[in-house]
Amino acid sequence: MGTLFNELKQDILYQHGMNACLNCGVCTAVCPAAEFNDYSPREIMNIVQSEDDEQIEDLLKSDKIWYCGQCFSCKTRCPRGNNTASVVLALRRLSIRHGYFAESEKGRQQLFAKRVFGENVLKRGYTLLAENITPAHFPELGENWEYYYEHRAEMRQWWDVPMDLENSPGSHRMIPEKDLDEVRRIYQKTGAIALMDAVEKGMEKKLGSKAEVEKYWQTWLETGDSRNYEIPDRQ
Ligand code: SF4
Ligand code: SF4
Repeated sequence: MGTLFNELKQDILYQHGMNACLNCGVCTAVCPAAEFNDYSPREIMNIVQSEDDEQIEDLLKSDKIWYCGQCFSCKTRCPRGNNTASVVLALRRLSIRHGYFAESEKGRQQLFAKRVFGENVLKRGYTLLAENITPAHFPELGENWEYYYEHRAEMRQWWDVPMDLENSPGSHRMIPEKDLDEVRRIYQKTGAIALMDAVEKGMEKKLGSKAEVEKYWQTWLETGDSRNYEIPDRQ
């Protein structure tokens, strides 16, 4: 039993999610993510159950732990009462704490989660703002959305509800500052802010500097696809 596994088993999500896996594969048979990706909850449980740090480290560096959509279908069917979704969350936290997430394309998308969903919640109490949903990145939303996006400040004035004209949660109300403070304290106490910081640090370590992280981020914003940034070979 290695140090990574020891750290994993301290996580309450791991403790709640893993009883003992008999490798029956029922979870994989019902998993929607397994149908479309190189992903199998049975494999995840098998690796974790091996308690082998080498295999766990490979898993933490791979895309696999980011494919789970947290639908909990596996939990309802598992004959041993396991919950792979919660084990996956514990693995994600471990991957971020150790910077392993930055080794995979899906893992690096945590920068988006941190800078958009995480920072929005801390600043405004909402995960996603209308400003984040640019027509260039979401063409499937069509002409109506394009119109709204371009005229949002004007249209928000028509609605006459208390919200900022820019960077607003849209039609939602503004969250009072005292409630936002409470949210920030929860994030601080539960370790979410530490994880958000670890995402920035992990990306910096992987790409070599803060400036490269910004370049990566800009490539993503401008082209809608982070894969257009070439990851430096720092082996
Ligand atoms: S359904 Fe449960 S016991 Fe079967 S492989 Fe999945 S986690 Fe293991
Ligand atoms: S929670 Fe994750 S592992 Fe379980 S069935 Fe849904 S996508 Fe698959």
